[in-house]
Amino acid sequence: MTNSLKDKELIEIAEKSLSKYKLCDHCLGRLFAKISKGVTNKERGNQLRKHLKQYETVEVDNCWLCSGLIGEIQHFADLISESLEEYEFETFLIGTKIDDDILDKEQELLDFTGSEYAESIKTELKRGIGKILEEKLGKEVNFEKPIIMAVIDTSFDVVNLQIKSLFIYGRYNKYRRDIPQTRWFCRICRGKGCRKCDYTGKMYETSVEELVAKKTLEKTGGSDESFHGCGREDIDALMLGNGRPFVLEIKDPKVRNLNLSQLERKINIHGKGKIKVTNLRFSDRDEIARIKAADFRKTYRVVLIGEKVINKEKLKKVAQALQDKTISQFTPSRVARRRANMIREKKIHNCNIELIDGTMATLTIEAESGTYIKELISGDDGRTRPSISEMIGVPCKVAELDVIEIKGE
Ligand SMILES: [Zn+2]
Ligand SMILES: [Zn+2]
Repeated sequence: MTNSLKDKELIEIAEKSLSKYKLCDHCLGRLFAKISKGVTNKERGNQLRKHLKQYETVEVDNCWLCSGLIGEIQHFADLISESLEEYEFETFLIGTKIDDDILDKEQELLDFTGSEYAESIKTELKRGIGKILEEKLGKEVNFEKPIIMAVIDTSFDVVNLQIKSLFIYGRYNKYRRDIPQTRWFCRICRGKGCRKCDYTGKMYETSVEELVAKKTLEKTGGSDESFHGCGREDIDALMLGNGRPFVLEIKDPKVRNLNLSQLERKINIHGKGKIKVTNLRFSDRDEIARIKAADFRKTYRVVLIGEKVINKEKLKKVAQALQDKTISQFTPSRVARRRANMIREKKIHNCNIELIDGTMATLTIEAESGTYIKELISGDDGRTRPSISEMIGVPCKVAELDVIEIKGE
């Protein structure tokens, strides 16, 4: 299309629009926004109006389409800038929520003119606000992965911030037998607080999650958190050795540039005698899926007690026989309510005896991820086969169970 033909088309559309609607220069020019860059909608609207001569300037407040909305860009930018004051971020994106009434009128005008070059008033608002904020704050608009998305609701003059979570990877050790990995809400009141839970809303006083998150929430000013572990040990099992990988997600963080070694020290002072964290580093959401899916071998230390004195030679033979043996475990009775009933085949890589003393023995067992160790010892009334109880001919129970190493990272 030659320039003159296109110009003719523009003038026709502008004429048609102005003959029916009172439009400000922004709203007139916006019908042709996609034609070329370097000219603002307001400038193009103004040029066309001058060219047509017979149409008077319309102030934005009197505009049929935007009723003054387009004159509020600076105001919206100020409002957003104020709401962002407490937050650390490098990139952002602006979103808008505007009156359906205005969007309906916009559609009506588009249908009436048939212009193929128009952009939405939302686009002009977002661009205008973004530009002001980029300059004022020295931050960048990012369309793919902004740290903060600020959505201005123009009808109510409120800003809604959507802030990317902050993810911190680490490994934890647990030194107590009465602490679950994650917050565990009271079964009766489901967290509200009742007599049964002494109005704490919780089944246990604290958890690895709470002990790790408290200082992190304080430092970041986050609104909430979520703890993602690479599997979990039983509440009464210690987590020793190199620790268990986890990712802590902090929601709506105000501070993102943390000194992680300082945070590590703070967490460890707060958690002293209960938990410890190591290897803290920044992470992302993808890592949660990675550690959740990981099948890391684990090494356990088990103290077992038999109903009768345990024969040394027999137990030695059993330990040897378990090397690289595959066992089958039907869903244990203690977790049957939470897990599907099925048979799981698990490989025992190693079994070593540390100590045998009368009815008591201490073993280290290295097993495939997801092996039920308590049931490997007890047999769980025949649900796990073979079991150590079955193999030595003495019914045994686990007295203590600790994770001493998680391999593979
Ligand atoms: Zn307007
Ligand atoms: Zn309760």
